[in-house]
Amino acid sequence: MIDTHMHADSRSSEDFDKMFISGIDTAITCSYYPYKLNNNPDVLINHFDRILNFEPKRAGEYGLDLKVALGIHPTNAISNSEAVFQKLEELIENKEIIAIGEIGLDENTSEEQKLFKKQLELADETKSKVIIHTPRKNKAEVLKDIKRIALNSIDPKLVVIDHINKNTIEDVIDEKFTIGLTVQPQKMEVSEAVDIMDQYGFDKFLLNSDISNKPSDPLSVPRTVRTLKRLGYNEKDIEKVSHRNAEKFFDI
Ligand SMILES: [Zn+2]
Repeated sequence: MIDTHMHADSRSSEDFDKMFISGIDTAITCSYYPYKLNNNPDVLINHFDRILNFEPKRAGEYGLDLKVALGIHPTNAISNSEAVFQKLEELIENKEIIAIGEIGLDENTSEEQKLFKKQLELADETKSKVIIHTPRKNKAEVLKDIKRIALNSIDPKLVVIDHINKNTIEDVIDEKFTIGLTVQPQKMEVSEAVDIMDQYGFDKFLLNSDISNKPSDPLSVPRTVRTLKRLGYNEKDIEKVSHRNAEKFFDI
């Protein structure tokens, strides 16, 4: 199984152990700095370095193959981002990251929009995959702007729009985006994810836990996959959302 979106730097080694033992072989850890940046790009670059140089080793000790996606999370929007972009370009060129992420809009400020668009353009230019965050608050409304900016800035085949739920699925299902379902306490129950896949099929979806410093379930991907099995869904369909779609999309 592949957990396609998590934040390893705010989780314990015990989580990595449980995840691997429960059948997760690979996870993708994204950048998100949960403290104040004070508009300092060095803090963000240090955050990137820590994820790249420390977390895959830490997870690897428990068998978990950790891939890295880095980018400027909307809640980390800063005005002097030149050095961060330089770093991102270098990481893409050296193939040290498998995607730019997570990026997107949260409060939907003009600063967030500017950084979001710039990162999408960088991804399109370099043919990099992107993981796009959609917010907890005003999700449907902010998603309209996310969709508009993304469709104007990047080939949608490079994009996964994440944290989609029952209320927002209709807004993205007909586009060429891949869709992330985040099964997480306070966001989405296993049953809601199952209902969405039951209704819209299994081809477009990736599953993830988005475990972070907020309430999280490190086993939400195996819980969802095993629930599909218990409910008798087709083995080939289960394999798609368990790992095949993610392998294809991220080329892993
Ligand atoms: Zn996240």
